[in-house]
Amino acid sequence: MHTPVRIYEIGLYLRCPRLIFFENLRNDPKKIDVKHILLHSLMLSISQKDDLEGQLRESLARLQEELPLVYEIEKDELELACRELEGEITGIARGLAGQLDLLLPCQAEVDLFSDKLGLFGRLDRLAAGSTPSLIRTGKAPQDGIWKRDRLMLAGYALLLGEKHRTHINQGLVEYPRQGLVRAVEVHSVDRARVLRIRDRIRQIKDGQLPDRPEDAPCRDCEAREICETRHSLASRFF
Ligand code: SF4
Repeated sequence: MHTPVRIYEIGLYLRCPRLIFFENLRNDPKKIDVKHILLHSLMLSISQKDDLEGQLRESLARLQEELPLVYEIEKDELELACRELEGEITGIARGLAGQLDLLLPCQAEVDLFSDKLGLFGRLDRLAAGSTPSLIRTGKAPQDGIWKRDRLMLAGYALLLGEKHRTHINQGLVEYPRQGLVRAVEVHSVDRARVLRIRDRIRQIKDGQLPDRPEDAPCRDCEAREICETRHSLASRFF
């Protein structure tokens, strides 16, 4: 029986396949990204279409009190992140106000699992019409969505499709910092790609260290040290 693959790992694989191998070895907890958690939680706090700016300001104040109870985060770091985000709220609200029909009503953080597909994951938002939506706290591309997001959406579409015995052909990606929600089609070619990547991830988790891709984003990679050690060890043997 194969270990199921997390949709998050599809994204990690697309960043660099070797990251799957090192993630599988790690036993220390991941460092918490306070700014990411804060903006992500803020987006999920939106519950109605009126007075979006007021809603966001109120939620930000509440999150500042509540997040330290949920996560192990430094209050000072959170305070700084809150002040930074406070300055962006007017722009976020102005951008998103006209797009709330796409996001509401919704279910937040939906756990999905399929034995048959060997996939599982926690979807950020399930919007109307069983539409999967991802919240991205980074920059949006000039047009459309990033490839990694496209394939992760396809992964969630597969899971939702299996659950509801249908094909999910639409997805959303939210880029709150730019006040954008981008609606995209989910293509069958991407669904098939997800399944191929799932198989590749299984092989890596079974112990196959992939080659280092030529365009790997090594400069800012947190696994760089262990990755370089593995590389030099391997070159000693071959
Ligand atoms: S250092 Fe480069 S090759 Fe190694 S895991 Fe990171 S991104 Fe991939």
